[in-house]
Amino acid sequence: MATLSATNLAKAYKSRQVVRDVSLSVSTGQIVGLLGPNGSGKSTLFNIICGILKPNYGEVIINGVNVNEVPIYKRALDYGISLVPQHGGTFSGLSCIENLKAISEVVIENKNDRNYKIEEMISKFQLEPHANTKCLMLSGGTKKKVAIAMALMSNPKIVLMDEPFAFLDILTVRDLQKTITNLQTEDTKRCIIISDHSVRELLSVCDRAIILANKKIVAQGRPSEVIKNENAKIYFGDAFKIN
Ligand code: ADP
Ligand code: MG
Repeated sequence: MATLSATNLAKAYKSRQVVRDVSLSVSTGQIVGLLGPNGSGKSTLFNIICGILKPNYGEVIINGVNVNEVPIYKRALDYGISLVPQHGGTFSGLSCIENLKAISEVVIENKNDRNYKIEEMISKFQLEPHANTKCLMLSGGTKKKVAIAMALMSNPKIVLMDEPFAFLDILTVRDLQKTITNLQTEDTKRCIIISDHSVRELLSVCDRAIILANKKIVAQGRPSEVIKNENAKIYFGDAFKIN
């Protein structure tokens, strides 16, 4: 059974329809790439799934339960959803450690486990040199790493990453790709959806890709199949190849 599914989602901002009749499902252990031109509704879908936005139509279902009426914090705590937002995601006046500490106080009950998890994240994302620097002062890439570390503090079962590779240099992207695939080996009960415009980097970590355009899903399948799909040319263009 799929852990996360969304059925027939529709969302309009005032009279402007952004997505219409979008259905997707992610099984445990899967990494799904969500691709689409700017403005195609990727962030809107993430925000609907984690409860920041309400859809005008459709359902978000986790482990068979409709969570449309479940508030954000409960989706996070009871259903294990975590979002790395496209923008922000850190408290800019707090240091890297203080950000992680603040989240740990909300998502980790056992006080002794909090410091252990903070240290693990600092080490996983090589944040040692920045541990006591206010996020305000960090580079875009380091801030992104802190935001990702924060999203992983709760050991989430459903991880939504909205453009996690943006602002990261190529070596950091490689590290993050490894971290993402390790997340799946550490815990096979996880499901992950990632959006990004770094198409090659994204397709190389995902099991399945979904292409969103013109308010709907125009193609989906294995990365190698999707790039050959005629309907996906709206996003990839004519000459796109992997390798
Ligand atoms: P993507 O993440 O694929 O770039 P978004 O989901 O951010 O797309 O946005 C989809 C469309 O909805 C865009 O045209 C955007 O301008 C519009 N939009 C997003 N958020 C809002 C909002 N809060 N109010 C009005 N329009 C919005
Ligand atoms: Mg977006």
